[in-house]
Amino acid sequence: MSRPYPPQALLDTLEEVFAPADDLREWISATFIDAEGELSNPDHAHLAEASIGVLWTNCDNSRNMRSVIGQAELMPPMAMGKWQRARAIQQIEEWFDGLPDFLLTFSAPSAATMDDASFCALVEHELYHCAQKLDRYGMLAFNKEGKPVFAIRGHDVEEFVGVVSRYGAGASGVSEMVEAANRRPSIGIATIAGACGTCNLKVA
Ligand SMILES: [Zn+2]
Repeated sequence: MSRPYPPQALLDTLEEVFAPADDLREWISATFIDAEGELSNPDHAHLAEASIGVLWTNCDNSRNMRSVIGQAELMPPMAMGKWQRARAIQQIEEWFDGLPDFLLTFSAPSAATMDDASFCALVEHELYHCAQKLDRYGMLAFNKEGKPVFAIRGHDVEEFVGVVSRYGAGASGVSEMVEAANRRPSIGIATIAGACGTCNLKVA
């Protein structure tokens, strides 16, 4: 597998930079979303109809002793003043020739040193946040044009290790996660020494 790496210029400069990563976006689509992809995952099938913008950044994002190394956002950006929001939308539209459905941001310094399995795990972590919305009956939601309605999905599991250790996986609703963890990984063993910004935002 040859995966895209962040541009060297981004790693060398002391300036804080965000740079569109078209090659990374294409690789993500071809590898994980495309049904024929090398690591194709049907859980991401709805993203075949999503436009995804991808950014590298060297901007440090450390908080609570953890460094954020990836983030997924639903577009347009929310939670800012009207001018800030309009300005952010203009910037993103200029980068991607229009506003994508999702914006993924990856830390260039982290990605530069991650092994393939870890980087793939990080990318798929962010892709899993990029979900199709469910309607009030729990069915996949589509708009009038028949296009999926997108949403950000939280994590499958949010529990304390201590609760699982005292009361078991069943009591904590994490049985599926435990079963998956006990199976051999289907892609490879990954280690991710960093946090996802989308998770932090939800917790914050
Ligand atoms: Zn996350």
